[in-house]
Formats: sequence, C-alpha cells, structure tokens
Amino acid sequence: MTSVKATARAAGHDHPIMSEPFDVLVVGAGPAGLALACALADAGLSVRVLEQAARTALDDPAEDGREIALTHRARSVMEKLGLWERIAATEIAPLREARVLDGESPSALRFSSQGSGLEALGWLVPNHLIRAAALRAAESRRGVEVLSEARVTALALGADAARLTLADGSVHAARLVVAADSRFSQMRRLAGIGASMHDFARSVVVGRVAHDNDAEGIAWECFRYGNTLALLPLNGRRSSAVVTVASDRAGEWLALDDAAFAARVAAQAPPALGRVNGAVGPRHHYPLVGVYAHRFTAARFALVGDAAVGMHPVTAHGYNFGLYGVEVLARELAAARAAGRDIGDAAVLARYGEVHRRTTLPTYLGTNAIVKLFTDEHGPAKLARRALLGAAERLPPFSSVVKAAITRQLTGRGGLSVPGASRR
Ligand SMILES: Cc1cc2nc3c(=O)[nH]c(=O)nc-3n(C[C@H](O)[C@H](O)[C@H](O)COP(=O)(O)OP(=O)(O)OC[C@H]3O[C@@H](n4cnc5c(N)ncnc54)[C@H](O)[C@@H]3O)c2cc1C
Repeated sequence: MTSVKATARAAGHDHPIMSEPFDVLVVGAGPAGLALACALADAGLSVRVLEQAARTALDDPAEDGREIALTHRARSVMEKLGLWERIAATEIAPLREARVLDGESPSALRFSSQGSGLEALGWLVPNHLIRAAALRAAESRRGVEVLSEARVTALALGADAARLTLADGSVHAARLVVAADSRFSQMRRLAGIGASMHDFARSVVVGRVAHDNDAEGIAWECFRYGNTLALLPLNGRRSSAVVTVASDRAGEWLALDDAAFAARVAAQAPPALGRVNGAVGPRHHYPLVGVYAHRFTAARFALVGDAAVGMHPVTAHGYNFGLYGVEVLARELAAARAAGRDIGDAAVLARYGEVHRRTTLPTYLGTNAIVKLFTDEHGPAKLARRALLGAAERLPPFSSVVKAAITRQLTGRGGLSVPGASRR
C-alpha cells in the first residue's frame, strides 16, 4: 500500500508532513475525541489527537458548570475505557429519581430506579473531571498521542489519505480523520456536510447551590412559567441549578450576586430540599442550539460527539450519545482492521453512521418537541402539557408506557420495570 507520507508529498504540499503515519487523526480533545482515542487504541489502531487548546487547559480543565448525567450504558463504556476508575468516587453522585413539576402545580411526575433492581437511574459527574480522566486514560495507552495548541484549519479528503493542515502550516495525514470538534464543527463544514440547527433562542445559566436537606439522589425538573429550573442532586447537600431562560434574559441571571442567585432559585425550588442557603462557586452560561449533522460519515471522514449530534441538555443525552457513537465506530473499525479492509472506506464508515442515526434521531426530534411544548408560555401549550403530565401520571396504560420509555432513555438500557403512578 502507498504510504500516507509518500501520497501527501506527491500531492505537492509545501510543508513537510509532521507525522509518521498514524492510522487515525482525531480533531478535538474534548470528552468524545479522547474517549474515541482510547477505544481505537484498544482496537489496535494508532491515533493522533489534535487540540487547539493549550496543554495546561487539557491537564487541568477548568470547572465549567456542566454536571453530566450518565446512563448505565455510558458508564459501562467509560469503565471499559478506564475513564470511570480515574474519577474520584466522592465526585460521582447517583441519580435515583427524577421528578417533573409543571407551572405552579405541586404534583410531580416521577421516574424512579426503585423496584427495578438498579442502584440508580444514572450518575452525575462534573464535565471537567470527565475531560481530565479521558486525557489520562488516552495518554496511558501506547499508540495515542495528544498534541495541544494544534488548531486545524484545513481538511483534504483524498483517495488514499485524509490530510489536515494546522494553523502553524504543518500537514498531518492518515487513512481516516474523525472530527470531534464540537457542535459548531468546522471540520464538518470543511467536509461538505451540512447540519440541521435549531436555535432555541434560550440559554442555560448553571451554578451550584447549597441547601439544608440532602437531595437524596432526586433530580427536579421544574417547568415554571417564565423560566425552567432543573436541580440536579450532588453529594453533600448541594445541587446544580440549571436555569433555562430566554437568551436576552441570561445576562440578568449572570449578573446576580451569590445571595440573589440563591434567593431566585429558592423561590422556585421544591420544599423537599429545605432552605436554599447560598450559591457555591461560579456560574456559567450556554446558548441552546440543537445540531444534527445531515450525514455522519464520508470517505476517510467521520463525525463523533457533539459534531455529529448536539443535543439540548434537558434530556441529558449529549455525552451519552457521544459514548455510544464511540463504541460503535470503534467496533466497526476493529472489524475492518481484522478483515484487512481499509478503515477509511466509505462503506465501513457508513455502517457506523446508520447505527448512530437509528440510536439518536428519534431522541433528538423528541427532545426538541418536548422543549417546545414545555417552554411555550401560550395558553394552549400550557393546557397541552398539563394534560400530558396528568395522563402520564394517572392513566395506567399511558403512564406505564410513557414512563417506561423515558426511564429506558434515562438509564440507556431496556427492560426496566417502572413503579406505579405516585404523587407528592
Ligand atoms: C449545560 C449543559 C449540560 C449538559 N448536560 C449533559 C448531561 O447531563 N448528559 C450528557 O450526556 N450530556 C450533557 N451535556 C452535553 C455534553 O457536555 C457534550 O455532549 C459533550 O461535552 C461534548 O463533547 P465533545 O467532545 O463532542 O465536544 P466538546 O466538549 O465541545 O470538545 C470539542 C473540542 O474540540 C476542540 N476543537 C474545536 N475546533 C478545533 C480545531 N479546529 N482544531 C483543534 N481542536 C478543535 C475544542 O477546543 C474542544 O476541546 C450538557 C451540555 C451542556 C452545555
């Protein structure tokens, strides 16, 4: 087979090829790109990860306010890749139950792990700790190299190799490029792949609050009028407050001092948490834009993580989907390698694309529809969601089907028995 190095030189590049030929180049050392590097190394492939951020930001990622709810399937992928064991147990908070409150109604729709034989619906882990664990896991493997301050500016997909050009002019080539460069992926655009984007005109403001009572592993999703408040249970009588507001009101929430932020959260928090007695740490802000790539692959090119599917965070699926994609892509590439096939072959990659689309598209569309219904302040939408939640809680067949479906989504596995309707 013609070497990648020779092919790139033949193509007339001015800059020398910096790399010995790696099997795969991954753009982006976020949690998805690094998890993929681990999985590919375990499949016997060599990987170079190119990341624009500085090395210090990779070694010690800043706390970013994201508490990532992970499903059972995601946890098992993280265990297999050695990420889970690199996160301190005290930083992992079990999610035992989710309760949904609508408007001023005190009734809650409940999803619980009780009676299912499962320890929890899922687990909450701070995003910056996942990033740090993923970097250490990737760099502990032979055949993985992570380059920092390596901003990719150009992509060329050729018959024998894919080539990336960096801002410093260096050129890197491999049989396959995988882009994990965020939902606003520049690589996706450079590969000529479009994406459906939905700007919700809303933003989330996230920050931790302390309260008198233990959260007992219960997440609260409060669809109040004017804004949505999610309270995610952390260890040690703390919760992460996730406030969703119209984007033009995000500045107002960010400008609040700790006491005023805690007071606003307290005004909307359920009584079960007791007195909300302060905000802990900084607040962060994310505009909400859902993104779904029109295709996940091309010859010598694939998308993973948010670059493939950028979810609205309300259903907590973004990184879970990223990990599911990593698992499937690594499996397909391992099979291709074992069969002596080209790992950049369009047909090999297309199989990953098909599976990942089947896994993610219904939830992507369903999440967007739910967000629309639950953030619409108009009378008919308010009535519709009140009716939906009431039916989901009271009508046994509807209740069990809806709850079982949602709980399966929360846990990332099938066959979970869901307890009967209950109110609080
Ligand atoms: C508030 C909030 C809450 C969330 N909660 C959950 C949850 O509960 N559960 C869940 O599963 N998910 C959740 N998510 C989603 C989750 O955070 C994302 O899915 C995940 O972080 C995406 O990881 P990624 O590696 O694909 O992308 P990113 O984390 O965006 O990383 C992309 C990387 O690529 C690099 N990069 C970009 N362009 C280039 C370039 N040209 N050259 C080199 N490097 C480049 C960037 O510097 C970055 O390091 C949440 C998201 C938000 C905002």
